[in-house]
Amino acid sequence: MQTKKYPYHPPYNTEVGEAAGILRNGGLAVFPTETVYGLGADAFSAESVSKIFDAKGRPPDNPLIVHIDSPSMLEQAAADIPPLAYRLMECFSPGPLSIVLSKHPSIPEIVTGGLGTVAVRIPSHPVARALISASGVPLAAPSANRSGRPSPTSFGMACSEMDGRADIILDGGDCEVGIESTVVSLTDSSAVILRPGAITAEMIRNRLHIDVTGAAEPSDIPLSPGTKYAHYRPDAQVLLSARMNDGLLYGWMDRFAGKTIGILRLFPEIMSEDGGEIRIRLDEIHAREMMTGTRVIERAFYSFEEYARELYRAFAEFDRMGADVIIAEGVEETGLGRALADRLRKSSGGEWV
Ligand code: AMP
Ligand code: MG
Repeated sequence: MQTKKYPYHPPYNTEVGEAAGILRNGGLAVFPTETVYGLGADAFSAESVSKIFDAKGRPPDNPLIVHIDSPSMLEQAAADIPPLAYRLMECFSPGPLSIVLSKHPSIPEIVTGGLGTVAVRIPSHPVARALISASGVPLAAPSANRSGRPSPTSFGMACSEMDGRADIILDGGDCEVGIESTVVSLTDSSAVILRPGAITAEMIRNRLHIDVTGAAEPSDIPLSPGTKYAHYRPDAQVLLSARMNDGLLYGWMDRFAGKTIGILRLFPEIMSEDGGEIRIRLDEIHAREMMTGTRVIERAFYSFEEYARELYRAFAEFDRMGADVIIAEGVEETGLGRALADRLRKSSGGEWV
């Protein structure tokens, strides 16, 4: 398949129009959202949606999120919408929140993995919104990666995942959130988070004054079917680490002698100091590189938001640089830390260094 790829040049009217035409004719379009890049198809067409599963190699029981441009499009995708869903949307939409609702009969079962429910989201990215509006239909769109791999969060990553597999790829720059949306299901008066994301349990609790719980671990009850599969795995093996320090780093250099190690650090004290100390540290690492034949590539993050935003781009960069192993610092599971810990756990298969 020949894929058209458009670089970013706002206001992107022609490309969006062309992509909408492709979607209306049953094709696949990769488009940016604020979370990750999506691989979209007309959510009303079972035949078009089946192409998504082929392009990704996605298991058929892993449901897709349906993207809409406004609350008024909601009634085309969902049925029996409870008042709490509208309240949630008022607070957090457009944005990185997907709400699981009863499926509208016009949404084919292939979209929902055979479930009677559908996850619906209004993205805030202007290209995503413009594309849904121009298409005039809800778009079923999972992340635009081949199944099991990290979600693309830049145009370059989207191209390397979907070139030759989608009809068109639109550029919208780097994704601002960087991890997939929060998926939440509702009862009359409470919410269950099936997949943590940038809209946190605390945020929902504080705004709506309702009970918010996390889902049971996916291995116990697969409430959110996709959660049982391997996810977010780059080429390099990912390993988790507790709080890092240079003593640990030197140990890993011996243990992974001759390999390239990518290091993801959170709030590193030494790296934020300036001048002499940094130089001494780099000299020390360099000397050990010469001794062990190990190469170290480091990325440091100074907030949970930055860690989430850059995580998959750092994976892609480390893969490009030939990393054999990526050692990622674990995070405290509060607020956005819960979503980060979830992605890190899945990328690593729960393996600690
Ligand atoms: P992706 O589009 O790749 O971000 O994956 C979408 C994820 O949303 C799935 O893997 C599920 O975990 C979740 N999801 C989508 N639809 C539903 C649904 N109807 N019920 C529960 N979870 C869902
Ligand atoms: Mg995905």
